[in-house]
Amino acid sequence: MKLVTFVQNRQARLGVLQTTANGDVVVDLNKAEPSLPTDMITFLNLGVQGRHHAAAALAQAPAGATVPLASVTLKAPIPRPGKILCIGLNYKEHAAESHEELPKYPVVFAKYNNCVIGPHEPIVLPKISSRPDYEGELAVVIGQRAKNVAAADALDYVAGYMCFNDVSARDFQHRTSQWTIGKSFDTFAPMGPALVTADEITDPQSLDIKLSINGEVMQSSNTRQMIFPVAGLIAYITSVMTLEPGDVIATGTPSGVGAGRTPPRWLRPGDVVRVEIAGVGVLENPVVAEA
Ligand code: ZN
Repeated sequence: MKLVTFVQNRQARLGVLQTTANGDVVVDLNKAEPSLPTDMITFLNLGVQGRHHAAAALAQAPAGATVPLASVTLKAPIPRPGKILCIGLNYKEHAAESHEELPKYPVVFAKYNNCVIGPHEPIVLPKISSRPDYEGELAVVIGQRAKNVAAADALDYVAGYMCFNDVSARDFQHRTSQWTIGKSFDTFAPMGPALVTADEITDPQSLDIKLSINGEVMQSSNTRQMIFPVAGLIAYITSVMTLEPGDVIATGTPSGVGAGRTPPRWLRPGDVVRVEIAGVGVLENPVVAEA
């Protein structure tokens, strides 16, 4: 299932994106089955049973529950995640272009939910940064409370996957040893367009991942190049903290970021940034200057 959060008549709703002979549609899960919730985190808290329940409801959704995608606005699948954990330097070539040594342990930092935007919502370039950059990433969404999870079991705790752009103000990021301040400007965590449930992604370590700006490919790799794979990241993080349904882990970016280019390629107003991951979808965001 491709789960989405969408707005219709100014109300945020939970839906499933489907491709039909008549184009893309969104099925409103709560209208298909009134016992299902209208928001993503409540839904994810229902666990695997909730997902089965939704699949059953989809199969017999009344016509009134389905609307054309074009008639609604998609928001970030999880508008306010409890946690957004990001992994730095998780692809060898990106570590090299960043002039950093390969990490012995996952480099974990945070973004906050002020950063979250959805598909087609603008990335706002802060006036006070002169080095805004992009990072195309695979994001993992937790589907069940997780603490001290073994790597062998870790993927059982994943609800699904999303495209993610870890937008970064490099000047602020490198002022200090801690990166959070350069990573947490408003709008710096575009995600979506859908949360693709884990059953549709057989192997999260074999996905082509690409980022382009205005049609020009800047990053192109495969998630098999990750230094620390998804399962290991979940094991490592949950050895420290409890993860909850709806928490997001952005798994790091391949090489080709703006800072690694000669000359550097910073984001500019008017750019359109596109993150594409095989089977997970396409996330596109325009870039605007701060008012
Ligand atoms: Zn990143």
